Amino acid sequence: MKALPCPTCALHVKPVRVTYGLPTLEAEQDAADGRIVLGGCDPTFGPEFVCPECGSEIDPDGVVASRVASRAPASEAPKPAEG
Ligand SMILES: [Zn+2]
Repeated sequence: MKALPCPTCALHVKPVRVTYGLPTLEAEQDAADGRIVLGGCDPTFGPEFVCPECGSEIDPDGVVASRVASRAPASEAPKPAEG
């Protein structure tokens, strides 16, 4: 896996795979060494790869930037103070 620019912290990082479910001994060792991240039991909404620096989701295909942009809330514009 080559290094990619993290869309959140802007560092070039090697995305680490998130492993779900009960970790095997091997998975625990990999997590301790930083090769993977343990994501807990429920993969329903979990990312497949994350940034090892900030934990943000990274798409190793490099499409995460546009995905993040389109995911930004459009209706949550800050409201000017009333009065
Ligand atoms: Zn990051």
